[in-house]
Amino acid sequence: MSEAAPLLELRSLGVTYGPVVALDGVSLSVGRGETVALVGVNGAGKSTLLRAVSGLVAPAAGEICFDGARLTGQAEARVRRGIAHVPERRRIFPGLTVAENLDVATSPWRRGNQSVAREVEHVFALFPRLAERRRQLGWSLSGGEQQMLAIGRALMARPRLILMDEPSLGLAPRIAEEVYDKIRLINAEGVTTLLVEQNTVLALGVAARGYVLDHGRIAIEGPAQDLLRDPRVRDAYLGR
Ligand code: ATP
Repeated sequence: MSEAAPLLELRSLGVTYGPVVALDGVSLSVGRGETVALVGVNGAGKSTLLRAVSGLVAPAAGEICFDGARLTGQAEARVRRGIAHVPERRRIFPGLTVAENLDVATSPWRRGNQSVAREVEHVFALFPRLAERRRQLGWSLSGGEQQMLAIGRALMARPRLILMDEPSLGLAPRIAEEVYDKIRLINAEGVTTLLVEQNTVLALGVAARGYVLDHGRIAIEGPAQDLLRDPRVRDAYLGR
């Protein structure tokens, strides 16, 4: 295993849903400790790419390498290898409290461990508002708090790579900025991040590098600041 190898590498990845080609020949890498943004319009294939990495859909072609080795196996095995997925629209349990939502995110063999208690405290230190609301039910949280809880749940697995699907979706701009400040903190703690967004400015603002996905193919890639200045990105994705 080479230290220089990217933590995540997709090589010519293809994913189909029956006759629908969702991803076609996608190659992408995420370096250790890096934050990479994957942007594109609705239906471009962004969520599918994250699902393929976390093992929720099987590739039709190509391969996915994690930490220098080919990634195979079911989603649960990938969580154990250090890959956590924060799905689109949060998917927290509305009928459970904040603390219970974190608890059920823990693998059964770890429940009751000291390390789990430390993980909960780590999540509460990162998100003090969740600590204040630890006994409140999921449905009573604001959209921003639900997003933070969804991220907190993913952190319970102590991931090396976190996959985030549209963390700003449906949030007021100020709240989305708050969520992004937390994403910066998580990355600063050493968690490699692959971020999917329709909000191109936010995502490229936090990322070192970015990829633009268009109809299942990588259309443009490069340093995030270059993409923000790229006329093709500005015209198609920034509305100016
Ligand atoms: P969004 O932001 O709307 O989630 P996206 O860029 O994440 O868009 P995907 O959700 O990955 O895009 O969808 C890529 C393509 O695959 C789209 O054409 C979509 O309609 C199709 N697709 C996604 N999931 C399925 C499915 N379960 N069955 C059939 N087609 C699907």
